[in-house]
Amino acid sequence: MSIAESTAESTADAKPVAARRAAIVQLDDKLINQIAAGEVIERPASLLKELLENSVDAGATRIRVHAERGGLKRIAVQDDGAGIPEAETRLALSRHATSKLRRFDDLFNVDTLGFRGEALPSIAAVSRLSLTSRTADSASAFQVTCDGGAVGAPRPVAHPPGTTVEAIDLFYNTPARRKFLRTEKTELKHLDDVVRRVALSRFDLDIHFVHDGREVFHALAARTAAERERRIAGICGAPFAGQSVYFEDETDIMTLRGWMGLPTFSRSQRDLQYFFVNERAVRDHLIAHAVRRAYHDVLYHGRHPAFALFFHIQPNLVDVNVHPAKSEVRFRDSRAVHDYIYRTLHRAIAALTPGESAVELPTPAAVAAARAPGAGQGGYGSGAAQRNIRMLVAEQMDNYRALHPSADADAGATQPGANGEEAPPMGYALAQLKGIYILAENADGLIMVDMHAAHERITYETLKRQATEQSAGSQPLVVPLSILVSAAEAEAAEQFHDVFNDLGFEIDRLGGEQLAVRAVPELLVKADIEMLVRDVLSDLLEHGSSERITNAEHEILSSIACHGSIRANRKLTHAEMNALLRQMEQVERSAQCNHGRPTWMSVSLPEIDKWFMRGR
Ligand code: ADP
Ligand code: MG
Repeated sequence: MSIAESTAESTADAKPVAARRAAIVQLDDKLINQIAAGEVIERPASLLKELLENSVDAGATRIRVHAERGGLKRIAVQDDGAGIPEAETRLALSRHATSKLRRFDDLFNVDTLGFRGEALPSIAAVSRLSLTSRTADSASAFQVTCDGGAVGAPRPVAHPPGTTVEAIDLFYNTPARRKFLRTEKTELKHLDDVVRRVALSRFDLDIHFVHDGREVFHALAARTAAERERRIAGICGAPFAGQSVYFEDETDIMTLRGWMGLPTFSRSQRDLQYFFVNERAVRDHLIAHAVRRAYHDVLYHGRHPAFALFFHIQPNLVDVNVHPAKSEVRFRDSRAVHDYIYRTLHRAIAALTPGESAVELPTPAAVAAARAPGAGQGGYGSGAAQRNIRMLVAEQMDNYRALHPSADADAGATQPGANGEEAPPMGYALAQLKGIYILAENADGLIMVDMHAAHERITYETLKRQATEQSAGSQPLVVPLSILVSAAEAEAAEQFHDVFNDLGFEIDRLGGEQLAVRAVPELLVKADIEMLVRDVLSDLLEHGSSERITNAEHEILSSIACHGSIRANRKLTHAEMNALLRQMEQVERSAQCNHGRPTWMSVSLPEIDKWFMRGR
């Protein structure tokens, strides 16, 4: 029922109810804090997130988390950070008290995770809280406790430099809130997610998480490339670490780096998607859109990419004060951020061609960044990518264990490059297997290519290139199509008139809220033009750009490519096979077919040796 309906009804037949009213009173502080806590502390995991953020802000290098019964019974976070002097311990627990903000302008230059001065009082309002802290120059630690609103006086206790905050019996005094919680197991899962996200955000932190006396997670500080790979595997799982590539890119005001899951490692859920803006984990629909668009062309429908991406931007270009739990941000120039993320990822995905480094983006800035001291750390770039692709291969090779390549005796003799020169990345064809796969040999070992999938990708990329090189053909409609739109959409259509024209559309504004489509791109004559134009307009209004037309064309090209590609069971000559291998080395995104399946696999000689238990 909408609000309008409900008020209409209540005024119609419930007059006396409206007459009954309670007097306005000023709420007491305790209730105010409990209400405010609802925004920040939704469940044990949100409490933990706030405590971890405080530890990070205090410059901690080691953090210990202890939780009991999904965090409902107890959450304690101990750090070795700067601590709080005795005189400020009580203040830390009062609302709107913070050391991170002084004046309004600071809000637009936040370099800490917290700044609202709300977390500790909110936690104190819904649990039994104790705060124990010692600064480096103090001989003793001091502890304050807060039970049901009243904060006691600080008393000296033993504690190493740093801070421990402990919250016991969460929501004991707000039973209504407690009813919304799930099982302990679910809450533990959320706690674990929070710890992992913080571990991802700062590779220099040592974080240890114990639940009900058992270690759940321990991330060691990672400084070298190998340590970082291990940490990523520990946080996101070994399959992700093995099937992702690391990349970095930078501009004057923004940098983007991180691990992108290979398109073949897609997920049915968005459960492996991490995005950090200036070390803050955020969910942002603008960023999600940019990432989705970048992967658009290489993923199965309904599948989701996996990634851990770290975006940095000057703090004054992002507003972090838009959400009570600070999990959303607003960019001053959201369009520029969207475009930058989209373009960078798109380029990185396009670079995933066989034999080539998948991570070094072909821009001078990226190359320089990768080589900068501390950034690349000795071949962090291409080496990692090569290894990752090989690991993917190794894993999928299980399916091929029983493979006995039928030695094509004459193939070796006719091998190009037999006179000693190094084989190209995709190697030279040895034979065709079951009319489906090409077997080839390169410097490392054996390569297998799904010839239909590979050819399909090559044809598709070629068609796409042709489509962009030749200006789009346009076909006039015999009867112009009239579409009713909103005034804002009609204005967008006018404003982006040239963009539509370049794509082969001819669209005029007829009146305030009416458009006439007079011509459409040749490829899209059979498409649902009205829906396409509407979707494009809403994209333009929201993001200032739209890929829909190109995507619709790509879908058609993709189906042409699929039907026009070599079918299984066609006998190919060695020359044809080698030509296909050479094309694969050239074409962008050739490691996946248009549907996100891999197009090729390789197995190295040492791996083959292992099958036969042959030591080298
Ligand atoms: P905020 O983080 O927004 O400032 P909080 O209520 O989370 O607000 O914390 C209040 C203040 O208490 C912080 O500004 C900080 O000075 C201090 N504080 C909280 N936790 C810690 C900690 N683990 N180590 C040192 N200081 C802390
Ligand atoms: Mg805080």
